[in-house]
Amino acid sequence: MRILFLGVGEACDSRHGNCSILIRTKNTTLLLDCGFSVPHRFFRYCDDPDCLDNVWISHFHGDHFLGLPLLLLRFWEMGRTRPLQFIGQENLEEKTLAALELAYPGFADKLSFPLQFQTITPGKTLTLQGLHLRAAVSGHSQKNYGLLVDDGDNRLYYSGDGRATKATRKLMHGCDLALHEAFTLRDSIPGHGSVASCLQLMDEENIHRMALLHMERTTRHREKETLKKIISGHAGLLLPKEDDVISLK
Ligand SMILES: [Zn+2]
Ligand SMILES: [Zn+2]
Repeated sequence: MRILFLGVGEACDSRHGNCSILIRTKNTTLLLDCGFSVPHRFFRYCDDPDCLDNVWISHFHGDHFLGLPLLLLRFWEMGRTRPLQFIGQENLEEKTLAALELAYPGFADKLSFPLQFQTITPGKTLTLQGLHLRAAVSGHSQKNYGLLVDDGDNRLYYSGDGRATKATRKLMHGCDLALHEAFTLRDSIPGHGSVASCLQLMDEENIHRMALLHMERTTRHREKETLKKIISGHAGLLLPKEDDVISLK
């Protein structure tokens, strides 16, 4: 499993793009979230209209979802014909089509490729192109699913937004890599996690590696030195930046 960080930031960070990760396995590709800034970044890596198989949307806040109209427009411009699969919570189809209609009225009728939608249900495994996917609700201001991606060789957890819950802890337990939001240094903003709570998760849930994402922009910038010390003091803890790649074998 190859993990490419397209964006690592929160919604308004001008130094870092919205949080988004491109996963490549033997059989398929999966884009995790597609916020405002993501398509521009994504297409730096993609000149083939068929380069993407699946898109996961953790929740409907704009920094995770509102890049979809541009992603679709660009694939159409490139002449894509293969279906594109979307996976997420209920209403994903309705919200995606509504966003597309607002961004480019009438465009959905011109699309040259089918959009397919799969709803994931917590407690059930969804299997697509060799990937086993499971989701659980995190503690966020809007319903957000944390996602476990299992390709048979490795298990990766992606939090989207929100604090860990009993259910998301169960998903991430023992995983090879967790990509978890850490908005602040310590839990202080309701509906968001922190560096401290991620460290606790690593320890209590036996997580091998943990990448901190979606950090509040002034914290990431002003607390650089503190963060460096924390990272160097904890084996397996990472603070990725755009274009970083992690390969799991
Ligand atoms: Zn959110
Ligand atoms: Zn967010």
